[in-house]
Amino acid sequence: MTTPVQTHPKATAELLRSLGPSRVLTDEATCFAASFDNMRLSFMPEAVVRPAAEEDVGVVLRLANRHRVPVTVRGRGTGSTGASSPIRGGWVIHLDHWDRIEIDPVSAMATVQPGAITAQINDAAEPHGLFFPPDPSSIKHCSIGGNIATNAGGLRAAKYGVVRDHVYALEGFLPTGEKVRWAAPLRKFVSGLNLRDLWIGSEGTLGVITSATLKLVPLPAARRTFLFAFRTDEGALEAAAELMRLRLNPAVLEFLDTQTVAAAERQRGARVFPSAELGSEETHAVLLLELDGHPAALADDAAKARQWIARYAAASRETDNPAEAERLWDIRRTCSQAMYALGNAKLNEDVVVPFRSYVPLIRYTRELRDRLGLATPTFGHAADGNFHVHIMFDRDDAEHRRKAETAIHEVMTKVVELGGAITGEHGIGIAKSPFLRLQHTSAEVGAMLAVKRALDPNGILAPGQIFEPMNIWEHRPVKVTLPWDKH
Ligand SMILES: Cc1cc2nc3c(=O)[nH]c(=O)nc-3n(C[C@H](O)[C@H](O)[C@H](O)COP(=O)(O)OP(=O)(O)OC[C@H]3O[C@@H](n4cnc5c(N)ncnc54)[C@H](O)[C@@H]3O)c2cc1C
Repeated sequence: MTTPVQTHPKATAELLRSLGPSRVLTDEATCFAASFDNMRLSFMPEAVVRPAAEEDVGVVLRLANRHRVPVTVRGRGTGSTGASSPIRGGWVIHLDHWDRIEIDPVSAMATVQPGAITAQINDAAEPHGLFFPPDPSSIKHCSIGGNIATNAGGLRAAKYGVVRDHVYALEGFLPTGEKVRWAAPLRKFVSGLNLRDLWIGSEGTLGVITSATLKLVPLPAARRTFLFAFRTDEGALEAAAELMRLRLNPAVLEFLDTQTVAAAERQRGARVFPSAELGSEETHAVLLLELDGHPAALADDAAKARQWIARYAAASRETDNPAEAERLWDIRRTCSQAMYALGNAKLNEDVVVPFRSYVPLIRYTRELRDRLGLATPTFGHAADGNFHVHIMFDRDDAEHRRKAETAIHEVMTKVVELGGAITGEHGIGIAKSPFLRLQHTSAEVGAMLAVKRALDPNGILAPGQIFEPMNIWEHRPVKVTLPWDKH
């Protein structure tokens, strides 16, 4: 932990006078806690502001503009790209205490404050037979403000969409401190330019969200979960593509490659499917399928899925019992932590590729593993091409760090070559800032920067994020245990 350095003492003193010492915190522990996200690269702010009233956000931003103080907005710090790290110091606006949730069951809408934990929105909606479909794996820890700012996705995105598909309206403050409302709590709104969608996914660079109205959808009446084993990674991915051709519209279709399954089986001390059932001692790749909807439609889809399984899978299980389904999910829930047996550090790349590139991508991850000697366990959402390619390495080994740095550059280059995207849900932040120009032309980046300058002429909000390539390898992550580490 390093003591916060006051590079804007006059501005911070004025902020303290305006909002009071209970709202502007400059102690070391508070500043340290707001200095990093799940990426764990710490950059100390000068103060953490926990506004009492909405207008306080305007006060902070106007003062920041007058004194040119960098401002970073923070939800709950689960982001994995360093996007809520105050890399240029200054002030952090921390909004986790703004967590009000109001459900309108007739309109099927939720009006929420940005600090509301996403899982709690579902808890509030469930008694009305509704839910908010985007379900990042961090759902019990992350905030809706962070979800909107990153356009978060989740396991059910292929069927239900991402956060952008579920936002009716936003309220908040421009970087210059003026209050704005983008759209309204209405099902239809086409007045003026759509700056609501510009804010969604802008990673806290274009405004501060203080309220959101979300679209809720009816909870599915029934659900059936399947787990399948395949002899090879390619076999599982080809089967997934074939399943999509059947037009089953799965709520979940998770792929786990053989490296991932082997790590999870080692941690669990048990095979996912017994060798006798597989007819082989070899580790198999896995697909986890969940169908949901009206019971009659579901029965029809389940029958189609069974015909498909018979052609492709080496073994299978299925259930509509929630407790048994939870057991089928166990491999997916444990695999992420299990990978740490393959290296004490992990790069988690959330790339997206088109269906035609699934097999080339997985072959490439194995080729990389064999060439560099680093494990590359890969899992992901096989219904929408969003794969998490992990590069496991030993952080204390300089050679391993060099190889991991090479590997991430290669993966990003390959993904673009395969017609894909360098990020499908985590965003750019600082982690992917060196690769932005692999994905986008100079004209595209220039247009993005023109928008940024128009809304934030003094470069107050999240300076240095997204657009300025940062060499993250010059920074060492802090050693901390975060609430989600055990999951
Ligand atoms: C274990 C784990 C699993 C994860 N799984 C997924 C997953 O499946 N899918 C996925 O998409 N992500 C996933 N993530 C990443 C992360 O949870 C998401 O990016 C999440 O949306 C971040 O929310 P947060 O509240 O923690 O935001 P933070 O990390 O605090 O901030 C993220 C970004 O949002 C901005 N921001 C936050 N609040 C506001 C606001 N009120 N106004 C303007 N900008 C704001 C910040 O400035 C920053 O740019 C995972 C992370 C972990 C640790």
